[in-house]
Amino acid sequence: MADVLVVGGGVVGCAAAFALAREGLSVSLLERDAPAAHASGVAAGMLLPTSEARGRGPLLRFALRSLALFPELCAELRELSGIDPEYEACGALHVATSEVGEAALRRRAADLPECELEWLTQEAARRAEPGLAPALRGALWSPREGHVHGERLTRAYAGAAVQLGARLETGVAVRGLLTRGERVTGALTSAGERPAGLVVVCTGAWAGELAGWLGAACRPPVEPVRGAILSLEGPRPPLASILCGEDVYLVPRRDGSCLVGATQERAGFDARPSAGGVEALLRAGAALLPELAACAFLGARAGLRPGSPDGLPLIGAVPGARGLLLAAGHFRNGVLLSPETARLIADLATGKEPGEEARAFAPERFGAGAPSARA
Ligand SMILES: Cc1cc2nc3c(=O)[nH]c(=O)nc-3n(C[C@H](O)[C@H](O)[C@H](O)COP(=O)(O)OP(=O)(O)OC[C@H]3O[C@@H](n4cnc5c(N)ncnc54)[C@H](O)[C@@H]3O)c2cc1C
Repeated sequence: MADVLVVGGGVVGCAAAFALAREGLSVSLLERDAPAAHASGVAAGMLLPTSEARGRGPLLRFALRSLALFPELCAELRELSGIDPEYEACGALHVATSEVGEAALRRRAADLPECELEWLTQEAARRAEPGLAPALRGALWSPREGHVHGERLTRAYAGAAVQLGARLETGVAVRGLLTRGERVTGALTSAGERPAGLVVVCTGAWAGELAGWLGAACRPPVEPVRGAILSLEGPRPPLASILCGEDVYLVPRRDGSCLVGATQERAGFDARPSAGGVEALLRAGAALLPELAACAFLGARAGLRPGSPDGLPLIGAVPGARGLLLAAGHFRNGVLLSPETARLIADLATGKEPGEEARAFAPERFGAGAPSARA
């Protein structure tokens, strides 16, 4: 019997399995398809706390701490797993093309002095990225942000966890939980029972299924939000940093390609990119960097972001069910938040007192929205 059973092999589950194995616990990781088969394998991999987590106190602090962990973490994962997560501390240029956009970026610089953000005039921004659109008004330079390869990071977490003794089972779906009274004692899977001392559910956009597993009427309020992203043969010379426009971003990849992302669509569990979404991204990308229109189109993909009602992840104990933790609802930031999420799960699993801000992420904040174990 494993000390901990982690359900879901996206970036959150694989990171949790790694952190738990690092604590010396025996870990079993179950994935219905393959690691990184869903949102985590589609993600642009940007590490952008200043644009994604601004204005939300606990989330911003959590995200900044996570960002700071990436250099050492990626070196360790590469060493253990043999997979390079392709961490690039390239910085990000947040570009303003409208008066409203400029005002928002200037406010952000004032609000986040600890992030060393620097306002660049139109001329300075064009020196940094000469191909920028004629509509350019200026840009905010964020030197500490960067990106990883989401799919490689996820597989590196899983590989490192296995190297530390975790057992990875792919093609195995959890269909229910084993319970004794209010205590969860393992999972019922497509391959039989898997008893465990603790179950950690990291099933991304599918986290709402937990209600059915517990036989409860209510569910974690996690909903799928489709994101489509394009891959183009990158411009020459390649972009020096991430470019964030007001409604599109461009991410240079090590292989010379360039990602253009991303849509935000409510389409249930349909994870196919729509024609309208692809068209909107191409138009917005070329408006930000006109030379993009001449680049070869390599493909479009989409994934389901796990959205939550308040934009914060749900990390922690599930009310009414002992021996059960949830880590889901990371929406646009699962890759960025994976190191700190994994640390928090490992702290909770080993009985360490979680930090003050962990309360902001507790699933119990949704009260009746969270499931309770069958009596
Ligand atoms: C286009 C796009 C761009 C993005 N860009 C970024 C970015 O730049 N930076 C960033 O930080 N984030 C980004 N994100 C968000 C990020 O991808 C998600 O927040 C993150 O991948 C969520 O990880 P997860 O592990 O919770 O979910 P997933 O990656 O969806 O993993 C959940 C896993 O659980 C498995 N599962 C579900 N049910 C079961 C079951 N019953 N039994 C067994 N396994 C099960 C699934 O098969 C799946 O593999 C982006 C997302 C999209 C779609």
